[in-house]
Amino acid sequence: MERSGTGYEGVRAVILDAVGTLIDPAPSVAEVYAGAARRQGLEVETGEVRRRFKEHFRRDELDDLRGPMVTDESIEYRRWRRIVGGVLPGLAEPDRAFLELWEHFGRPDAWRCFDDVIPAVGLLREAGLAVRVGSNFDGRLRQVLRGLPGLEPLADSVVISSEVGYRKPHPSFYRAACDRLELPPPVVLSVGDDPENDDAGARRAGLSAALIDRSGRVGPRPGVFPDLVSLAAAVVG
Ligand SMILES: [Mg+2]
Repeated sequence: MERSGTGYEGVRAVILDAVGTLIDPAPSVAEVYAGAARRQGLEVETGEVRRRFKEHFRRDELDDLRGPMVTDESIEYRRWRRIVGGVLPGLAEPDRAFLELWEHFGRPDAWRCFDDVIPAVGLLREAGLAVRVGSNFDGRLRQVLRGLPGLEPLADSVVISSEVGYRKPHPSFYRAACDRLELPPPVVLSVGDDPENDDAGARRAGLSAALIDRSGRVGPRPGVFPDLVSLAAAVVG
């Protein structure tokens, strides 16, 4: 298909972020963590869990940004153990809670797929673009995608930081993704909901990038889209 006048004419492949872009936890992370605490007799308000999760997840990401951003499956496992311990201190059996949560978020039924994902991926593929998933999630992402109706084909097209060895927004993550596509960075479009990991980081690595802003927090500006279908429509022209 001939594409023109969109600003994305040269794009030949799209790398979609997973969490917050394709899928979201349902029930929420806070509800699931509060449930794990409750099973051990500890009542924690979901609002408090949400606040602590944000704090500990963010702190871990900041530690990463100051360091080499290297990762693998065991580093991710330890990261989540640390986060769970920080969010739910004082549990009688912290290992049990961690394992329950690790297992929970590796199951497809812990996630919902946003309504616009399947039509957007369809539009991109019909236009002849390669579509990949690029994520800081770990190897559990494949089984999650495989179990969500309509997302199964994407399970075999994932680039996962724990397998590449670098987390987004490290340029080596994006380079690895482009190498696998056998395409140069400028013709690859990174799409996601995180301004640093999916947008700024990708641009620094030479890729094209677009931000999905489902909540309207960032507001309208070039390169920001309220959902995936409007992004896909702009890309395919
Ligand atoms: Mg995300």
